[in-house]
Amino acid sequence: MKKDHVDIPAPSSRFYNIECTDCNEQQVVYSHATTRVFCSQCGSPIASSSGSKARFVGGSVKGAVDPVAEIPATTGAEPASK
Ligand SMILES: [Zn+2]
Repeated sequence: MKKDHVDIPAPSSRFYNIECTDCNEQQVVYSHATTRVFCSQCGSPIASSSGSKARFVGGSVKGAVDPVAEIPATTGAEPASK
């Protein structure tokens, strides 16, 4: 079913902060990673591909990385202060 009104199409994929269950090292993993992702510290697998969204097998999700915050505004508008 087609959505009636979508102002700005946004991708449903995200980047997540994944904490390794073995060494508690956090790293950013793409939500639809297509390869296995290993911890940068201890080498344990923390995410595996399932065909669509990645499964975070050996890590726990600590939250999504806000993609808007990673991209500087180019419109000339003042960035919102936090
Ligand atoms: Zn680790």
